[in-house]
Amino acid sequence: MPRFDYVIVGAGTAGCVLANRLSSDPGVSVLLVEAGDADTNPLIAMPRGFGELLGDPTTAWHYPTRPFGPSRQVEYWVRGKTLGGSSSINGMVYNRGNRADYDALERLGNPGWGWDDMLRAYTTIEDNALGASEYRGADGPLHVSTVDGTDPLLEDVLATGTQLGWRRMRDYNESDEERIGYAMATIRNGRRVSAANAFLHPVMDRPNLTVALRTLVGRVVLEGGQAIGVQGRQDGQSFEALATREVILATGSIATPKILQLSGIGPADTLRSAGVDVVVDSPNVGARAREHRVFLLQFRLADDLGYNGLLSTQAGQQEAAEQYRTSRRGPLATPPCDIVGFFKTHPELDRPDAQIQVMPFSVLPLEPGKPLQIEPEPGMMCIGFILRPDSEGSIHLTSADPDAPLDIDTNYFATEHDRTTAVEVFRTMRRLFATAPLAQRIERETVPGDEVQADQEIIDAGLTIGAPGYHTIGTCAMGPNDDDVVDPRLRVRGVTNLRVVDASVLPIMVSGNLNGPVSALAWRAADFMVEAAA
Ligand SMILES: Cc1cc2nc3c(=O)[nH]c(=O)nc-3n(C[C@H](O)[C@H](O)[C@H](O)COP(=O)(O)OP(=O)(O)OC[C@H]3O[C@@H](n4cnc5c(N)ncnc54)[C@H](O)[C@@H]3O)c2cc1C
Repeated sequence: MPRFDYVIVGAGTAGCVLANRLSSDPGVSVLLVEAGDADTNPLIAMPRGFGELLGDPTTAWHYPTRPFGPSRQVEYWVRGKTLGGSSSINGMVYNRGNRADYDALERLGNPGWGWDDMLRAYTTIEDNALGASEYRGADGPLHVSTVDGTDPLLEDVLATGTQLGWRRMRDYNESDEERIGYAMATIRNGRRVSAANAFLHPVMDRPNLTVALRTLVGRVVLEGGQAIGVQGRQDGQSFEALATREVILATGSIATPKILQLSGIGPADTLRSAGVDVVVDSPNVGARAREHRVFLLQFRLADDLGYNGLLSTQAGQQEAAEQYRTSRRGPLATPPCDIVGFFKTHPELDRPDAQIQVMPFSVLPLEPGKPLQIEPEPGMMCIGFILRPDSEGSIHLTSADPDAPLDIDTNYFATEHDRTTAVEVFRTMRRLFATAPLAQRIERETVPGDEVQADQEIIDAGLTIGAPGYHTIGTCAMGPNDDDVVDPRLRVRGVTNLRVVDASVLPIMVSGNLNGPVSALAWRAADFMVEAAA
């Protein structure tokens, strides 16, 4: 049976960072196990290939939720399933969260995770096209860039944001104030920079690093309270690998609590009713799931601006594709969202509690199994969400069969904080589009439409027409207490030689999109592991 010092499960954002760091010592052998295949689909590299990748089962997992909301709909929580994981199919917005997020994480009893340490991790991993500064790095593996918009609508959005008191910034990661700017994105010269591009591909030829593709891990093998390896299937055959130092789960906030539960680590009652023998009764495995619930607003434009005219027809798509092929420019080279803003829902708050992302195009309602379709008439879209929701859902096993669906309880808008803040987020989004100069561009709101006015109608619209942020955290949260799933060094409580390093270990939401934060978190986790091994 193959034997390695470290077995890392999941070659997503965190897994790629860890594989890079741990294999940098040639004396250490590392196995990186990934359920998906190589990241060779050409749509991964093209920034606007995003919509197609989300619906494709060869590049994405689709986890159905429990029915929820007034229409009792089921939605699919999508995750990347290829080298790079979700960073290979995500929206590429580069965001780091606020100083106060990390300082709160440290105050919760997690030493070493405060802003000063995390800023060092960020500046080490970044290769920021704006150059190095006190807040930015320019020599790291993760390329970050920003582009000016290619449509006049976008300048109007920025000008209108400043009318609402938000500062226009070239690099909005430099500040935690109310601000707006062109999206910072993990894109280099019109090509996506996934975690695989940044951290894994450059080191794939290291002789001490082995990558096992198409290998689905079902459970961690535990012996006498110690993790000794993993078991699963590779191309339909059974697969097993041993770890002499550690097994590290980096399968993301949905699959990691699933694998722990399948391995007998989780809430005893849930495990028993699923038919799994209990090894460690760890009540919060799969609990404390926090997620951004995203509001969607769409508008019909008064003039023929935005990308719809070009991107909704076959001829236009071919023109854009040709421009992309020959110059790596144009709408297909830019991130799916062009503008990002952060604002306060109440002036007395000490920092923004809401985020918006604006796109100069609009889409038809999503049909399952089909890629997102652009509307033929001119339109634009804005999504927005509460930065730090405190409603908590859960992700639990329904069966000992690894192929059985999970029970995902979204529990959106369960707290008074989330409901009242969400309503203000939505009203501020509308205010932006009702303020000059942007207001002059708008003919009418098409989604959700003027009939949505009362607080409850707004919440219901968020539940029925909104979307998940794809930023779930908390399902294996770190903390100092016995019932926290992992300790502040991310070691799983109740067993030895088993760690979790991915989005699931965050107990509280980082303010914004998560790819940057998970990259820095994994970099920091590697610091701890290297220190411990020294
Ligand atoms: C559609 C979408 C859009 C997003 N947009 C943005 C954005 O614009 N900006 C941003 O900052 N963040 C964005 N995010 C969030 C961000 O990409 C994720 O939070 C981050 O990538 C999570 O990293 P991770 O390492 O925790 O998990 P992942 O990157 O999801 O990696 C998990 C890996 O484990 C593998 N795996 C799962 N189960 C198994 C198993 N049983 N055996 C073996 N391998 C397994 C998966 O295939 C995957 O490769 C988006 C996410 C999605 C899904």
